[in-house]
Amino acid sequence: MKVIVIGAGLGGLTLAQGLRWSGIDVVVYERDDAEGRAQGVSLHVDDRGAEALRACLPPAHAAMAEATMGGPRERTLTLSDVDGTLTVVGTQPATGVGNLPRPGRQAHRPLLRAVLLAGLADVVRFGTEFTRFEQRADGTVQVWFAGGGTDTADVLVGADGIGSAVRRQHLPHARVVDSGRRMLMGATALRTIADTGLPELIGHSPARVQVGGTMMALGVLRFTEPPVAARQRWLPALPLDAVATAEDYTMWALPITREQLGQAASPAARWRLAKELGGHLPAALRRVVTEAWPDLTVALRIGTIPPVPAWPAGPVTVIGDAIHLAPGFGGNLAMQDARRLCAALVEAYHGRLDLIDAIGAYEDTMRRDGFPAPAAAKAGT
Ligand SMILES: Cc1cc2nc3c(=O)[nH]c(=O)nc-3n(C[C@H](O)[C@H](O)[C@H](O)COP(=O)(O)OP(=O)(O)OC[C@H]3O[C@@H](n4cnc5c(N)ncnc54)[C@H](O)[C@@H]3O)c2cc1C
Repeated sequence: MKVIVIGAGLGGLTLAQGLRWSGIDVVVYERDDAEGRAQGVSLHVDDRGAEALRACLPPAHAAMAEATMGGPRERTLTLSDVDGTLTVVGTQPATGVGNLPRPGRQAHRPLLRAVLLAGLADVVRFGTEFTRFEQRADGTVQVWFAGGGTDTADVLVGADGIGSAVRRQHLPHARVVDSGRRMLMGATALRTIADTGLPELIGHSPARVQVGGTMMALGVLRFTEPPVAARQRWLPALPLDAVATAEDYTMWALPITREQLGQAASPAARWRLAKELGGHLPAALRRVVTEAWPDLTVALRIGTIPPVPAWPAGPVTVIGDAIHLAPGFGGNLAMQDARRLCAALVEAYHGRLDLIDAIGAYEDTMRRDGFPAPAAAKAGT
């Protein structure tokens, strides 16, 4: 069996690791070069993502990923400015209900990506943009790339994110709905804000601060094991530059609108906008923004894909943001899809399930868990 995966994001790489580890021939085509796009520094990994990493990655990779996450995040704190001092005024358990996260741990996203890529040098082809596919009479799928190259496999997986070209051809009726909401997100080295008292106040928990009309979210990552030592212990094959500069930090986020984001297209412009919007926040929070790494400031578009009615299963399928969007936990769903699809393909590979039935069974669970409940879908429009 040969599998072509389009997209070397969280879902595509988790799937590729799992297939490789199971002895299945897999090749990943990625449009970007090896450096990739800025996607922020932080990822809240909940039980779904953690289970996928354990199931799909070789044990040393999984241990490295786990060792370099932050501590357990079991509740969300609400902070407020009480008589000029930032104070915890409420806590809510991380139940996953409403807009509360599920319990989990914070991961350093570029480091996690490096772990997911480790050992896949001969599997991932960077700088190769998928353009279209064709299902052939013998049941295989042929794909074409910008520039004219082509490849053929038994299964094609679209793991190509929100703008998925695989989805556009395979499920042209699926729509991406832009909510108009955006999230400005950045990261700040803990050493630069140590004297504000914020890191101690928050601990490992995600925190929300409401001051006047402005909401700000914060999340401190203190590596459980220093990344350089963890690499030495678990995964010496990981490039040293993936860990050399990683240091404890806090992520921060400011919800804004599409109009507020305006033309702030570069990281530096987004950072300046964040400083402007947070200008009236208490001094400690202003410090978090002014001391941030400017080039790591990103803007997350909040959107949704309304549920797509079931389609006939075939050798072409989709995972992750290519088929469902979930602000705040889309990465976990992408990794969960990867785990489930990998398990289904392994069953087919060993002849225990028909290939198309296996893909259909994966798609049933993906649709069940990936699409928002009707009320949530409406709220996202
Ligand atoms: C700032 C920020 C913070 C976030 N925080 C969290 C969080 O804390 N927890 C969480 O669970 N989720 C979070 N998310 C969401 C999460 O990042 C996404 O849901 C997740 O990356 C989706 O994974 P994916 O593999 O489906 O797609 P992606 O990670 O988007 O990967 C898709 C890949 O496909 C490639 N591609 C696209 N088109 C083509 C083509 N035609 N040919 C070849 N390659 C192509 C892209 O270059 C990309 O590398 C966050 C997102 C952002 C931006």
